[in-house]
Amino acid sequence: MGLWVQKYGGTSVADPERIRAVARRCLRARAEGHDLVVVVSAMSGETNRLLKLVQSVNQRPSEREQDVVVATGEQVTIGLLSLAIQAAGGQATSFLAHQCRIVTDSTFSKARIKRIDEEPLRAALARGEVAVVAGFQGIDEEGNVTTLGRGGSDTTAVALAAALRAERCEIYTDVDGVYTADPNVCPAARKLDRISYEEMLEEASLGAKVLQIRSVEFAMKYRVPLWVKSSFTDDPGTLVCEEDAAMEDVLVSGITHDRNEARLVLRGVPDRPGVAARIFGALDERHIVVDIIVQTAQQDGRADLSFTVGRADLAATREAMDRLVPELGLRGVESDDQVAKVSIVGVGMRNHSGVAARMFDVLGKEGVNIQSISTSEIKVSCVVAAKYAELAVRALHTAFGLDRADAAAER
Ligand code: ASP
Ligand code: MG
Repeated sequence: MGLWVQKYGGTSVADPERIRAVARRCLRARAEGHDLVVVVSAMSGETNRLLKLVQSVNQRPSEREQDVVVATGEQVTIGLLSLAIQAAGGQATSFLAHQCRIVTDSTFSKARIKRIDEEPLRAALARGEVAVVAGFQGIDEEGNVTTLGRGGSDTTAVALAAALRAERCEIYTDVDGVYTADPNVCPAARKLDRISYEEMLEEASLGAKVLQIRSVEFAMKYRVPLWVKSSFTDDPGTLVCEEDAAMEDVLVSGITHDRNEARLVLRGVPDRPGVAARIFGALDERHIVVDIIVQTAQQDGRADLSFTVGRADLAATREAMDRLVPELGLRGVESDDQVAKVSIVGVGMRNHSGVAARMFDVLGKEGVNIQSISTSEIKVSCVVAAKYAELAVRALHTAFGLDRADAAAER
């Protein structure tokens, strides 16, 4: 029987009763003969509470100290889960990141894992224990506490599964799998049995919140079979795995939307070499990530340039752009934070033409104006007014044949 890594998110360990239920689930896997490494998040709401505490004493905290505080949420849950497993008659040992040497770089608050020491975990497994590992945290080469970014326990779990060459990695969360669209927005959404790494990666970067992006990157790189499941049901969940021919037959496998976007338009940008580098260089200096960029055809040596950024970065972006107005002689800077990005994703797009045109047609018929477009091999994204985001998702979901068979009857 192989080694399994299971990860339980905040809602699965939200209170003592749920922690006991997780302990029973762990013991079931043990009884089936699997060696088990379990990664847990902090109790739901705890990381936010800790971040607020940090803010209450210092509004511009150093990220090193902030990590020292927020990493503590997971220390509580590994201890509690180990105790619950012991109380249920099993054996378990908890591990903080420094105890199984989850070594990261020193980018506090969004550190990247460099290596993991298997030995302490292997020794615990050899003794018949469940190894319960704190998610989200790491240590850097100097032994400082680091964290992996919000949702980082997913990445801890997949990185462990890769390092230990686990047979599978199960991510237990509050939804029972990956859906064709957010079921809160699109009641006709269906749970997928399987989705390819690439599609999942695209969805995670386009606003689907099921898995942290880094965890999908890790799973894809090391070919870790990844199951997304609910700890409240016995549903098999969704398998994130290598692409196969059956997946390519499906044109679109999911519709995502992201309301965390803002769009800026720079009017009258001089059309000469070096200008784009100046504009986006100024944003890069402030670590602002730019998404969809569109430049209009030039007229009289000037063009309009629009791009999107995360909504949280809008104020800083405006400030940076306003400073460039005199330098570049811009005619104006406009911004809009009431926009959303709606995307269709599917590996089937690679071999089929006309998918983008069909998307634009659907949006047009619904009276939804498209502000900018971006495409890649397996996705098409449109920026639209935020108030149309949900309508757009539902219309596209129906048009691309994704609705549950019984959904029409419910409407
Ligand atoms: N507790 C951390 C967070 O809330 C990590 C995680 O849950 O994955 O972001
Ligand atoms: Mg999570």
